[in-house]
Amino acid sequence: MQRTPIKHCRQCGTAVEHRLPDDGDTRIRAVCPACHTVHYENPLNVVGTVPVWGDSGQYVLLCKRNIEPRWGKWTLPAGFMELGETTIEGAARETDEEAGAEIEMGEIFTLMNVARVGQVHIYYRARLLSEQFNPGHETIEARLFTEDQIPWDEIAFRTVKETLEHYFADRRQGRFGFHAFDIA
Ligand SMILES: [Zn+2]
Repeated sequence: MQRTPIKHCRQCGTAVEHRLPDDGDTRIRAVCPACHTVHYENPLNVVGTVPVWGDSGQYVLLCKRNIEPRWGKWTLPAGFMELGETTIEGAARETDEEAGAEIEMGEIFTLMNVARVGQVHIYYRARLLSEQFNPGHETIEARLFTEDQIPWDEIAFRTVKETLEHYFADRRQGRFGFHAFDIA
């Protein structure tokens, strides 16, 4: 989702101006005319997992979203990183919050730049330790799918679809890589 522009100074509450700062910066920023604070806005990280089950990882865990956007669509467990946590910690936390799934964290799998909305999405592979899920309030249902069962037309986000496609392609080749690419 596109973020709404800053309207008021975070330091003093004055309405900001959107202009070039005075320090030679070449981008338009939200600048406070009262206390001169420059508000820098930078990309956010979204972190998640590809939790798999079965001898050959033939099942992937998906969550049906109980929140907007894309209510009712299926996603991998993922969400915005919190301050003070690492990417792996964030991915583990989101997997616990959204699916209530016990996992053993694996290798980094996809890194996708979604420059249009100022986000970087990172997914780790993860091995499920049980088939018991205890999804939180953000999830209607958490369940396992084989490649053929996946509701491909009901996937919430392009980053999730691309990550799933890479997962099953790598699985067929018997070798998992690291895939870094841009989402146009
Ligand atoms: Zn201010």
